[in-house]
Amino acid sequence: MLKLTDQRWQAIVTNDATQDGLFYYGVTSTGIFCRPSCHSRLPKRENLQLFTTPAAAMQAGYRPCKRCRPTGQAVSTAEWVTEIDQIIATHYQDKLDLDLLAQLAHGAPYYLHHVYQQQTGRTPMAALKQVRLRHATRLLRTTNLSITAIAAACGFQSAAYFSTVFKQAVHQTPREFRKKNSRTESSDC
Ligand SMILES: [Zn+2]
Repeated sequence: MLKLTDQRWQAIVTNDATQDGLFYYGVTSTGIFCRPSCHSRLPKRENLQLFTTPAAAMQAGYRPCKRCRPTGQAVSTAEWVTEIDQIIATHYQDKLDLDLLAQLAHGAPYYLHHVYQQQTGRTPMAALKQVRLRHATRLLRTTNLSITAIAAACGFQSAAYFSTVFKQAVHQTPREFRKKNSRTESSDC
């Protein structure tokens, strides 16, 4: 592994293309590696690991960035969609929107939306909503958490919004759903 000198850090900060090919940097928080010139969001300095070759970065478990393509070849769209699904599965509780999703997946928002829809037949935000609803449904069935708590735990901005989305998808309010599907005799909420 290569040492992160101030000079190399500067190259990353300034997207210095003259350093491309001399080293690659992996970002521990995302598991993705880039060329110095990559225009993806500047990572925290303490999250960087430097490598002399793409192979070394991949051996250490990093995946090539979709944006700067450090291996010289495009990540296949199927791989990318899998990666996007993984990000959704890990971050559905957060304030995930298309911009943040694109940032985490190292692609432009519009492009991500387009590729994802083309590959899966639905938009990334529809996929996110489905994951959130699936978790909410499970919580309604198996816990006595309040609707507000479930909404928050599943990444919905508010209980009201959660109820609206839920009703659209399930054709029952969360409360009605819980009444019909919960075996335990729950008190209120
Ligand atoms: Zn990159």
